[in-house]
Formats: sequence, C-alpha cells, structure tokens
Amino acid sequence: MDLFDQAQAMDEQLREAALSARQASQTSEPGTMECIDCGDEIPPLRRQAMPSCRRCIDCQNDYEKWKTR
Ligand SMILES: [Zn+2]
Repeated sequence: MDLFDQAQAMDEQLREAALSARQASQTSEPGTMECIDCGDEIPPLRRQAMPSCRRCIDCQNDYEKWKTR
C-alpha cells in the first residue's frame, strides 16, 4: 500500500508541475504570438515595444490605414 501511495503522490506532483508550467507560460511571457489577420508570428521585439499588439507590422499598417481613412 505504501508503494501505491508513493506512486500516487508522485503522479500528483507531476500533474501539478505540468499544470503550473502551463499556467506560467500563459501568464508571463508567451513563447509565440500570431497575427490575428494573417497568422504570421509576431516578432518578440515588436511585442516588447507594443505588448498590446495583435497584428504583424504589415497588417497593423493596413489596419491603421483603414482606420484613419
Ligand atoms: Zn499579419
């Protein structure tokens, strides 16, 4: 029974570790982000400069042109 408890505790730990790793990657810095218009990856530098951006540079330009027209 002891061995079973140990195995279960280990399983629990693994699951928690995986869960918190996933949460950390969601909450802090996401690895990649894709443009909502064309699906291209947004470069990390651009995301650092504009954390709220959801578009790549090309689509953002198009979007702003369209917006101010
Ligand atoms: Zn784009």
